[in-house]
Amino acid sequence: MAALEQGSIVAVIGSGAMGAGIAQVAAAAGYPVKLFDTRPEAVEKAIADIGKVYTTLVEKGRMSGEAAIAARARLHSVATLKEVDDAALVVEAIVENLDVKRMLFADLENVVGDDCILATNTSSISVTAIAAQLRRPQRLVGMHFFNPVPLMALVEVISGLATDPAVAATVYATATAWGKNPVHAKSTPGFIVNRVARPFYAEGLRLLQEQAADAATLDAVMRDCGGFRMGPFELMDLIGHDVNFSVTQSVFNAYFGDPRFTPSVLQQEMVNAGFFGRKSGRGFYHYG
Ligand code: NAD
Repeated sequence: MAALEQGSIVAVIGSGAMGAGIAQVAAAAGYPVKLFDTRPEAVEKAIADIGKVYTTLVEKGRMSGEAAIAARARLHSVATLKEVDDAALVVEAIVENLDVKRMLFADLENVVGDDCILATNTSSISVTAIAAQLRRPQRLVGMHFFNPVPLMALVEVISGLATDPAVAATVYATATAWGKNPVHAKSTPGFIVNRVARPFYAEGLRLLQEQAADAATLDAVMRDCGGFRMGPFELMDLIGHDVNFSVTQSVFNAYFGDPRFTPSVLQQEMVNAGFFGRKSGRGFYHYG
């Protein structure tokens, strides 16, 4: 199955950490991108930040000046959902909440054309469930990027029970055209990476609660001796505790309360405090 043609319009809904990264990658690969967010300031910030990243890439010799100017010109902010009516692919990267995602896709179905592919970047919610109430659930697929999107090659292309295999194949080929290494996966709780990563975070949090060592020491051991690129605490700070905690809750609930996936009260308190990690300036570490 071929990728969507270069020049096909991609809409990115939600312009936070993930939406901005997805837009950066798609625009650099030659696809015009329309960015929408319920907070218009998030779109403006995303476009400004992506522009700065392109400039840095030019300075480092990893992108030509012409390519950077062309990619920047492909980024468009839109103020209403109606303006994504000409999209060939919509990638949703909004809040990790089933009802909110369902509402968004129901609205999108009334806006986009019949051939438009609807993709969700959900970390853990059932793709089958997100699609279930659509008129055409076969066009919805998971397109799960990892943080930070421009640096992380993996994309999980997740099929729900109703997903048309041709839709999953097109998204797989398109992710490849964007320079990514996609894999196909079925809609299971946490998919592949967020499933196998749960014990990494959970055991780290338990060790911290039991005062085995402080977060910096535990991170250093996993990074420097364990061979992980990041330890669990610096990684949770990067992902965002709000996002990470809701993924754990979602996997726990999806497995009917399996104690292996019990969420951490320590992380719940971090979320209660608004200590979301890097994005809020404070998590297990302090930033800025
Ligand atoms: P974020 O909080 O940085 O950004 C979310 C953005 O969506 C915000 O700007 C918010 O204003 C906007 N938004 C919320 N509701 C909206 C709506 N109804 N319509 C339009 N915009 C809306 O979150 P994020 O980290 O970018 O995560 C986004 C999605 O990607 C979530 O589903 C998350 O689980 C998933 N994800 C996150 C990571 C990660 O490491 N952060 C990794 C993979 C997948």
